[in-house]
Amino acid sequence: MLNRRLLLLSSLVAGAGLSLPALAQEKSAQDKPVEGKLSVVASFSILADFVREVGGERVALTTLVGPDGDAHVYSPSPADAKAMAAASLVVVNGLKFEGWLTRLLKSSGTKAKLATATEGITPLKMQDDGHGHGHGSEDPHAWQSVSNAKVYVANILKALSAADPAGKAIYEANAAAYLAKLDALETEIKAAVARIPADRRKAITSHDAFAYFAKAYGIAFVAPQGVSTEAEASARDVGRIIRQVKAQKVPAVFLENISNPRLAEQIARESGARIGGRLYSDALSGSDGPAGTYIAMMKHNISQIEKALAAGPA
Ligand code: ZN
Repeated sequence: MLNRRLLLLSSLVAGAGLSLPALAQEKSAQDKPVEGKLSVVASFSILADFVREVGGERVALTTLVGPDGDAHVYSPSPADAKAMAAASLVVVNGLKFEGWLTRLLKSSGTKAKLATATEGITPLKMQDDGHGHGHGSEDPHAWQSVSNAKVYVANILKALSAADPAGKAIYEANAAAYLAKLDALETEIKAAVARIPADRRKAITSHDAFAYFAKAYGIAFVAPQGVSTEAEASARDVGRIIRQVKAQKVPAVFLENISNPRLAEQIARESGARIGGRLYSDALSGSDGPAGTYIAMMKHNISQIEKALAAGPA
């Protein structure tokens, strides 16, 4: 009942174009096992989409950090602990993305198996920029490269098959079909990048979430904030970015679905770069938004990027 009212309320709110942070997490917490289904908890929306693709009908899924939520700075609720306690499998990103996870695992007393979706991926280290950022910390945003997403899918396939051996053949068939779609997605992204003039393949975002995308597809991203949204950007970092945008003629500054637009808007205003639209960095949109699945998210992002960078000066 409560969940239904929350859902109704948040769809009303979404329809009205407002945001209501306390209710932003649409979720259907499974606080007791659904008969005949494997109870799986995914830490955030992008992982949940991969689990849904591979697990299909066999899985009863609970997502902790929902659409447009920021998993860097999440505060778990009692319902999250309940879902965790009832789960057979918990799927997480790892690379220190979910800093709140260890405590939640412990306090929930869960006996669930833990699967780390980034296992086997070589993490990018955040470059130390000489301004106190980075210090070699690992970048958690590995899903922003489609070839990494395929590793996520392989890890999820392995974990679901181990937790529910009777479903193995189904999980394998689902994963194979999805991996073919990811191949097509990657081809599409590379073709879009190729249409952007080489000297315009650079952009600004608020937090540093696109390093894997940059490395995979050859678009340079610079951000005043580090790989986590936890630390604020300093005035000095913002000033440095504004000078860089001017000197290197960076065509566009992008807003992010999980970040306050203020910082990006300030950089655009003071540097003369245009606002290139909104990128989905760390979370999907709601199912009625432009990025309700991982594939929709990546397509939306590359179309915003191509539109903003390929066009001539404003
Ligand atoms: Zn992030």
